[in-house]
Amino acid sequence: NEKRKAEFFAPIPEPEKADEFEDTETFTNFRLSRPVLKAIADMGYNKPTPIQTRSIPLALQAHDLCVSAQTGSGKTLAFLIPMIERLLYRPKATPTIRILILVPTRELGVQCHSVATKLSKYTDITWSLCVGGLSTKTQELELRTRPDGVIATPGRLIDHIRNSQGFSLDGIEILVIDEADRILEDGFADELDEIIKSTPRARQSMLFSATMTDKIEDLTKLSLTRPIRLFVNKST
Ligand code: ADP
Ligand code: MG
Repeated sequence: NEKRKAEFFAPIPEPEKADEFEDTETFTNFRLSRPVLKAIADMGYNKPTPIQTRSIPLALQAHDLCVSAQTGSGKTLAFLIPMIERLLYRPKATPTIRILILVPTRELGVQCHSVATKLSKYTDITWSLCVGGLSTKTQELELRTRPDGVIATPGRLIDHIRNSQGFSLDGIEILVIDEADRILEDGFADELDEIIKSTPRARQSMLFSATMTDKIEDLTKLSLTRPIRLFVNKST
């Protein structure tokens, strides 16, 4: 595991370099790959939001992040851009589920899946949506093709962990828990626990939450390794 982690972290610049990106005004300053920059331009985004400016360079360097930022601050791109970049750094010869994004609701899953698909349209990266309301059987078949990224609600994902033959999270390299406070409010703490424990310890993790409560703090301790904490509100 240590060796794997060492390899995983190898091509990444020094953490101290993070500051030089602080005043980034355009997405080009993040030194993203052409397919990602092109997709961002297609989507009509010219300038990163404050949370994107702060998160993207740190996430690109494989840091674990604990981010507190309110709705509408642009968190989706803040984690999707670096995740896609990091997959492109290290292409995989065999299909593997490498990214897991946990969201509280089906609706947020659909939204995140749509942004992820648009953002990776000039790459080979594939995404699968794993939420309630869709056929479990169809999802099971789709998961067997091993998409690069899975966007899931905890309830439906647990279903697959327990019941779908051959489904495994052993290849997860990056885990995102989006709207962690809402997931906990909905009573999915145990499911989150089980899911996190089903992924490799040597992974990068990012947690996003509008509020930082004691329960979120516990979840942070469980899911993140030496996280960098970012607090961003609309006025900053
Ligand atoms: P959050 O998850 O923090 O609530 P979202 O990621 O859903 O925020 O983004 C909120 C809105 O802002 C979306 O409509 C999204 O398209 C838009 N948005 C995100 N990033 C940018 C950007 N860099 N420039 C302009 N609009 C953006
Ligand atoms: Mg969001």
